[in-house]
Amino acid sequence: MNQTLDDFSGEFHELLAHVERYFMQQKDLFGNVVYVEEKKSARRPSVTHDTFTYPDEPWVQAPTLSGLNAAICTCIKCPLGHTRTNFVFGVGNPRADVVFIGEAPGADEDAQGEPFVGRAGQLLNKIIEAVGMRREEVYICNILKCRPPNNRDPLISEMETCTPHLYRQIDLIKPKFIICLGRIAGQWLLKTNDTLNLLREKVHDYHGAKLLVTYHPAALLRNPSWKRPAWEDMKRFKKMYDAMRLSPTTV
Ligand code: URA
Repeated sequence: MNQTLDDFSGEFHELLAHVERYFMQQKDLFGNVVYVEEKKSARRPSVTHDTFTYPDEPWVQAPTLSGLNAAICTCIKCPLGHTRTNFVFGVGNPRADVVFIGEAPGADEDAQGEPFVGRAGQLLNKIIEAVGMRREEVYICNILKCRPPNNRDPLISEMETCTPHLYRQIDLIKPKFIICLGRIAGQWLLKTNDTLNLLREKVHDYHGAKLLVTYHPAALLRNPSWKRPAWEDMKRFKKMYDAMRLSPTTV
């Protein structure tokens, strides 16, 4: 069938009239604000995350990870802000199902602005690959975003100041699994003094995500005999992760 330019023009005006009617209806209902329905991903049914408590500060409103990074990367709320070379926000897939959380950047991370890039980071990459995943597929960050001098343990005051930033990262990513690397991250997030071995025994609920605690890769470098139990931890995680992939709604 041959369509003339006039036919086409008629259809086009009819379409425009439809669009105009639609927007007039929307305007009657909602005024001058256009609401766009968010596209729901079939692959990623939401986990019900209960919310975190935040300070009344503007960065809390950042709607994306990169916006959050931009809003907090000049932070000087604790003394580490004055001694860092780089703010180490976090790296990886903003929609990761799995988030690895260490304690704080070391010298290499401070120099490069990326978490887990030194020797411990190389081992972490191998651990991630051993369970069939890639570093780019998961998300990696720390409790603290700035390096404590001489790699000392984070102070409670530093963790208290910095953790709301991590909460917001978790809130934006909405992972199904959180893997705490080491006792310090595990105890701090779970607000407990339980030993690492006790923490490793359980799958903890953390605001709707499953949280596991395992050895810090730096500890595995110092004590290779812990690699076997660390591998058992990761196999347990992988089993749950695979089950989630097969039946996402049950997690
Ligand atoms: N150790 C950590 O806890 N985090 C890093 O980013 C590097 C080493």
